[in-house]
Amino acid sequence: MVVVMSPKATDQDVARVVEVVEDAGGEAFVSRGKTRTIIGLVGDTERFMALPIPGMPGVESVMRIGKPYKLVAREARAETTKIRVGNIALGRDTFAVIAGPCAIETEDQAMTAARAVKAAGAHILRGDAYKHRTSPYAFQGLAKRGLEILAGMRQETGMPTVTEVMNTADVELVASYSDILRVGARNMQNFELLKEVGKLHQPVMLKRGLSSTIEEWLMAAEYIANQGNEEIILCERGIRTYETMTRNTLDLSAVPLVHNLSHLPIIVDPSHASGRRELVGPLARAAVAVGADGVMMDVHPRPEAALCDGPQAITCDEIGDLIADIVSVAKAIGKPLADPKQNLAAAGE
Ligand code: PEP
Ligand code: MN
Repeated sequence: MVVVMSPKATDQDVARVVEVVEDAGGEAFVSRGKTRTIIGLVGDTERFMALPIPGMPGVESVMRIGKPYKLVAREARAETTKIRVGNIALGRDTFAVIAGPCAIETEDQAMTAARAVKAAGAHILRGDAYKHRTSPYAFQGLAKRGLEILAGMRQETGMPTVTEVMNTADVELVASYSDILRVGARNMQNFELLKEVGKLHQPVMLKRGLSSTIEEWLMAAEYIANQGNEEIILCERGIRTYETMTRNTLDLSAVPLVHNLSHLPIIVDPSHASGRRELVGPLARAAVAVGADGVMMDVHPRPEAALCDGPQAITCDEIGDLIADIVSVAKAIGKPLADPKQNLAAAGE
């Protein structure tokens, strides 16, 4: 950490800062320039952050040099993280497709979507039993019955699943039904939930919060990793901006940024990012092109009758062509779609 003193700071102001740092068990290195003095702090940064240095006389600014996240930082691992889900290793060498209904509404609707998604060549099924809805009058999901249907989708297709867990009390139950647990955008900073899924020995998908910075998102991932679970898949799902034509604004720059900042894989959800069916294909192709490690898309047999997010769902007939398009872009950038056998062999498993 570096403390920058104002040009008017006195020797006494500098001495006071040094004293506070030393009292906290740190070392302070004073460097006097022509117009201003800077003080380099060595020691426990978290402890220094809690000190009242920014408000002390003569202090102009305080800058953190290191990253606040540690376990999920790129430097924390020699290799990037590959997450084994079913027969694939989701990570930076390949591209995985996750698709399925936003909400599980009926057995027939969910199974029809699951069969179409499998036939189209996707790797992982999505389907929610618990829904976060803006209105308390909107469909909230089938709860445990939905999880049972999800288990049936997995059994029939042989595909691994991802589903949302909304609160700490349900973590154990949801974990017993699904391969991957998802923490939704609205819960990205539900720290108790993050700690609870951090105790699991199974992958967690962490969506970016509605208005969260990339650093806040990585700090949320750090909460999960700090409990011992580093099987984290980050999911960019758009952020709030002033634009109203789309549900959110997809921040594709998050993909290469996260690849530089963290060893964790990152996927993109073009369905929740755009809220518009006609944008899902173009944004999914763009996600591949920018280097994402996967995409997650809503699929519904009859979007016009969907109980949740119909306008952004693509039909069972459209998903095949869309995945074929994704394959072409993935090939063009040398990031093949995850092939169950070759992929795990490449991951050394
Ligand atoms: C979802 O994927 O169904 C969902 C609710 O997304 P988000 O948490 O990103 O809004
Ligand atoms: Mn949805």
